Amino acid sequence: MAPAPSAEVRVVPEEGDASMPTMKRITCECGFVARGATDDELVEVIQKHAKQVHDIDLRREQALAMAEIEPYPVRP
Ligand SMILES: [Zn+2]
Repeated sequence: MAPAPSAEVRVVPEEGDASMPTMKRITCECGFVARGATDDELVEVIQKHAKQVHDIDLRREQALAMAEIEPYPVRP
């Protein structure tokens, strides 16, 4: 009488899951780093910084042109 394999659980998250949220960042020339989970959030942060610190009205297109993907920290 063979035991029936019931409720086989296979939840193995694969590396490089496409559903992982992607963080973006913009590094200002002064060294300030803006981060955001969405373009809107990111643009808002860097626009605020540019205005407050550099008195520059940064356009959305300019900000996004500077954006890069934030690499995930590698955990041991
Ligand atoms: Zn700056």
